[in-house]
Amino acid sequence: MHVREFFDPLGRWRCTQFGRFFDQFVEQCRKIIVRVEGADTRRPSVGADKFRNAVAYELAHPRYVTEVDTDPLALGQRVVAILETGVRTATYKLATLSALVDHCVENVPTDPTAEIAVPLDDLADRVIEIYWRQVRPFDGRALRQSTGSRARILAAVESVRAVVGDVSYPLGRAQAPHAVYEAARAEVVLTLVQQPLYRLQRLPGAAGSASETFLYDDSWMHSGVGPRVIAAHGNQIVLRPGVAAGLAQLSGLLKPTLEILWVEDVRRMNRFLDEDVPDVAGHLFGRQRISLGPARLALKEVFGARCFYCDAALGNDNPVDHVLPWSRVGIDGLANLVLACGRCNSSKSQLLPAVEHAERALGRDRPALENIAAAIEWPTQFDRTVAAARGLYLSTPNNSPTWLGVGRIIGLDRGFVPKGIDYVG
Ligand SMILES: [Zn+2]
Repeated sequence: MHVREFFDPLGRWRCTQFGRFFDQFVEQCRKIIVRVEGADTRRPSVGADKFRNAVAYELAHPRYVTEVDTDPLALGQRVVAILETGVRTATYKLATLSALVDHCVENVPTDPTAEIAVPLDDLADRVIEIYWRQVRPFDGRALRQSTGSRARILAAVESVRAVVGDVSYPLGRAQAPHAVYEAARAEVVLTLVQQPLYRLQRLPGAAGSASETFLYDDSWMHSGVGPRVIAAHGNQIVLRPGVAAGLAQLSGLLKPTLEILWVEDVRRMNRFLDEDVPDVAGHLFGRQRISLGPARLALKEVFGARCFYCDAALGNDNPVDHVLPWSRVGIDGLANLVLACGRCNSSKSQLLPAVEHAERALGRDRPALENIAAAIEWPTQFDRTVAAARGLYLSTPNNSPTWLGVGRIIGLDRGFVPKGIDYVG
């Protein structure tokens, strides 16, 4: 009897009599992309029998076989397993995952099996931005986001806010002295590697494939890792093949899930927040907390007091609408803001807009937007908005509902390439 252990294409650990599942396994392998580094003459590339032999060869080198999971549902199940396992002692894992999802949406590779590098500075910026609003007092008290005595990431965020005051993140970042922000970001990078990034994929008591690092290689991380080791690894993590495209595709499901778990965690870590305390979610994730008033006035001056979507004349207190839904990408920059009437704004809600709306919003007079940005000290975040639009449409299945107007939903046509978004590579 020939007993073998191997990873199946979904990364599950198999220990079986060799041959029993083998043909099935070979068949599954046909459907996935096996990444092989460089040319290997011992690995035949054509023919059914030869393919069988090739798979047998790959089995002797399991790392090749474990890196090929490109099924977003399988990826999603494993991410959810991370979230459901154990009691979190801090919200850092949720922040890290949320930041990773956002990064993937804005950097979704044209090749869905591609691996992408995530600079840790970029990840830290996103984490700082997430906590930027959350560290404000709630009901006059600071909300705990960890059960430990010292919340390093929150302290780092507060060190910047202490200098610039209660302003929006982009403005605060621009106004903070370079050294102050750099120090905070370095502390966040160090904390991310020592804590959530190191622990994210390690499930308690897991063995075999369950302890496998399916998102990125974390073999060099530990709770005492220092800046020099992080620098030696390029100050980045590299997402495994398929992970970036998969997380981008799952963003519409993962983002709300992360927020719900986050609110639960914060309630658990702050006993004074009993059931009666209203709107913890609004405090943590609410989009009304930043006043869009200055943007409304400036947009009216430049583009006129009309609804961007239906051209209705606007009164004084009309909504300012996030073209790309705030719940999906959280971009407050002017490039993502338009004036809307109340009907359009509430009808559109969290739906992805029809591609033509995004195209028209991004096709607005860019110098005019930059002038507004300079005048009211409000960034356009133009490039980020373009990247997010590209990522959202690229990772949304064809024919998914998009919002065209009040009572008008149309299926996404991926064949239509909008100007300025250019998502088909
Ligand atoms: Zn309207």
